[in-house]
Amino acid sequence: MARPRRAWAAAAKAKQESGALGKLTPVEPASRRGDGSPKAGPGQVYAVSSGKVYHPAWCNSVGNVWDENPKRLLVVEESAVGDREACKACDEPLQA
Ligand SMILES: [Zn+2]
Repeated sequence: MARPRRAWAAAAKAKQESGALGKLTPVEPASRRGDGSPKAGPGQVYAVSSGKVYHPAWCNSVGNVWDENPKRLLVVEESAVGDREACKACDEPLQA
């Protein structure tokens, strides 16, 4: 049996593509709310390391990530989001 070269190449390509979004470096949020959740300050946004979008505001999906797995929720510099796009749900944030 020959090795499945194509599968390997596809996996390598997928890895390359996810890396193209850029690595996120979490920063200390400007402040935190009473429940310990981070509050992004000026120039800061919310992001999930595996996500393809960033969140300028605390929207429904950010709230869900915080509820389900707070460790996945990162606060990063707005200038460091790479090729991620702004989340559309953030137009109607849950809270400031
Ligand atoms: Zn959002």
